[in-house]
Amino acid sequence: MSVTSKLYEGKAKILYTTDVPEILLADFKDDATAFNAQKRGSISNKGAINCSISSKIFQQLEQKGIITHYVDNPKPNQMRVKAVKIFPLEVVVRNIAAGSLCKQTGLGLGTVLKQPLVEFYYKNDELGDPLLTPERLLLLELATQEQVEQIIHLTLRINEFLKDFFRKCSIILVDFKLEFGLDSQQQIVLADEISPDTCRLWDTATNDPKNRVLDKDRFRQDLGNVENAYQEVLERVLKTLETDV
Ligand code: UDP
Repeated sequence: MSVTSKLYEGKAKILYTTDVPEILLADFKDDATAFNAQKRGSISNKGAINCSISSKIFQQLEQKGIITHYVDNPKPNQMRVKAVKIFPLEVVVRNIAAGSLCKQTGLGLGTVLKQPLVEFYYKNDELGDPLLTPERLLLLELATQEQVEQIIHLTLRINEFLKDFFRKCSIILVDFKLEFGLDSQQQIVLADEISPDTCRLWDTATNDPKNRVLDKDRFRQDLGNVENAYQEVLERVLKTLETDV
């Protein structure tokens, strides 16, 4: 398989077409952005770390019967993926209050939610990725009612798997963001990535609000040691896969 041309460059990945029409190559970058790209930087080795973590998690999800876009992981920072038509939605799941939920509702950081909260945001940089009501999502025809129901069902299954998996890594899964697409048979497929860029992950070893952070909040809040935290997550994921799953 060889790369034919650049299809799209996003904030964290470059997508290339390949000589196999239904397969794309995702190249994970070290570039980091936050606050709708107002804050920019680079985290050394991030591309390879996030690609490796995502690849391992997608493989586990596939084994649980969740269809993902993952094909294989030819280089540390490269993932071959099935070409899908991405829904312009960021599907956020929250188990514990943090980030924008605290800012917008006044809930205290760390409040344990009685049940997972699934939210949809409109993936639209110009509009600042606004939170959608279900009615607005349907109004804008971003997905059908049936697709929304399927996405919620898949998202809750993925949350259950990930909460348990990260618990085995001594990590609390606070919240995360998923993206879904439609494949050529109109099946809903989990796409994008699952990594410290897209999840809030807290080390169970400490309650210190800064030291416990093993995710992109280290970059957002200038907490330092960003690469070490990402590397720590990868090492725990690999160790858990060797011993536990
Ligand atoms: N998230 C993401 N990409 C986005 C927005 C959010 O991956 O464009 C993730 C984020 O890392 C966190 C979760 O979704 O794990 C919830 O984010 P939140 O709405 O609290 O927004 P933030 O505080 O990150 O602006």
